[in-house]
Amino acid sequence: MTASKPHAVLLASPGMGHIIPMVELGKRLLTHHSFHVTIFVVTTDSATTTSQILRQTSNLSSLNIVHVPPIDVSDKLPPNAPVELRIGLTIVESLPFLSSSITSINNFPPPSALIVDIFGLPALPIARDLGMLTYVYFATSAWFSAVTVYFSDTNKKVIETHAESRQPLSIPGCTPVRFEDTLESFSSPGGIMYEGHLRAAKEIVAADGILMNTWQDLEPAATKALREDGVLGRFTKGEVYAVGPLVRSVEKIPEGGKKGGVLQWLDEQPAESVIYVSFGSGGTMSANQMREVALGLELSRQRFVWVVRPPREGDASGAFFNVASGVDAAMSYLPEGFVERTEGVGVVVPMWAPQAEILEHPATGGFVTHCGWNSVLESVENGVPMVAWPLYAEQKMNAFMLSEELGVAVRVAEEGGGVVGREQVAEVVRRVMVEEEGAAMRNKVKELKLSGEKALCMFGSSHHSLSEMRKECEIHVQASSSSSSSSSTSSPS
Ligand code: UDP
Repeated sequence: MTASKPHAVLLASPGMGHIIPMVELGKRLLTHHSFHVTIFVVTTDSATTTSQILRQTSNLSSLNIVHVPPIDVSDKLPPNAPVELRIGLTIVESLPFLSSSITSINNFPPPSALIVDIFGLPALPIARDLGMLTYVYFATSAWFSAVTVYFSDTNKKVIETHAESRQPLSIPGCTPVRFEDTLESFSSPGGIMYEGHLRAAKEIVAADGILMNTWQDLEPAATKALREDGVLGRFTKGEVYAVGPLVRSVEKIPEGGKKGGVLQWLDEQPAESVIYVSFGSGGTMSANQMREVALGLELSRQRFVWVVRPPREGDASGAFFNVASGVDAAMSYLPEGFVERTEGVGVVVPMWAPQAEILEHPATGGFVTHCGWNSVLESVENGVPMVAWPLYAEQKMNAFMLSEELGVAVRVAEEGGGVVGREQVAEVVRRVMVEEEGAAMRNKVKELKLSGEKALCMFGSSHHSLSEMRKECEIHVQASSSSSSSSSTSSPS
């Protein structure tokens, strides 16, 4: 163990979409940049799935994973509180545990850096008090990161004009955000979401550095804008690093090992013939919408794998805190006779599917996705074109980037009444799976896959970014150890 080897503490906030990228970052820091790594995982009632995912990383025994005792904030919030508020409060309640655990880590060198995601910001003062460097990890695009950095210093009038006039929001050096794709926090300036995002943005720009799960060649304009002092770089205190694409790798099943379930079914299907349909770790839809998806898949006459959840009216993230429950209920909402009629053509998986493995499977040829950034990266990493069906958060921006800029997705159009009809569902699926434009998208997404691999290799831009960040941490460790040794020699004994 070298004295200057940095020790990074990572805090993963609740939700698989937050835990997975944080664990992947931790693995990368450990295996490619020789950090000591400790990951604190804030658990919710999706703990079953969480431990399953974390078990897959247990082969990395030097990755020190600490589970924060589960926290239930339901009696402190109204039942319909937005998911962001619930996550935020859960993090705040976990701070005492986090603080005492960080100070008592004694099996490694003292922690030198704390890395949080955008919900873990309340933990940053703990790190500052302990003399650690602070980093914020955007497990999303450089474009969203750029919008947030710009927002930290934007006059409220600019957002008000965007909301009232419904004109695009200009972001220096980046693609403007169309009103149709804007964030919930911008559509009602001064509201609770707006204030929360603004507070977060101000804390993010004050961190010692920003990491993003993207890569330079995927988003050249936004990464450049964020790094240049003359554009957005002047708003951030520290460097901005594009370190991706970091996605969950698939565990290889040992020769002769049992596969079972959906993966075994995929083994029996022709190459690139199956469309995978899933709306992220917590995505839910109304009963009507679920019915239209079912009938649309049937109408498309394509093979499919569909992850279903019990419907929720008016709550697109209804399963965020409980992906492990509701397996039987989910199936009972399918249209009568659907499972029988689609036998052999499709597989319905209740609640949770092995997504990384499905997308990696050669039989998978398309992905109907809510455009959560992890899902997007997993699809790109496997060269799978998409149907973009955004639900909440920054997903509409992601959908725009995929369909309008990168040309690797067909976007679902909104329909009157808020329900996308079965005809459109069938049409978008066929456009990706059967039409020529689908073949063109498949070629493009395979190019992106190669570009992502290049970014992560030894001389790639993302590898370089993390090496730079490591140097920063190393210098910090050396400075701290020399100042503590000089204070100990100068102090009276
Ligand atoms: N996921 C999975 N099985 C499922 C649903 C989701 O393995 O049935 C994983 C998916 O592979 C991805 C993460 O959960 O890594 C979801 O993250 P994303 O950013 O796509 O969406 P979020 O859940 O944050 O909205």
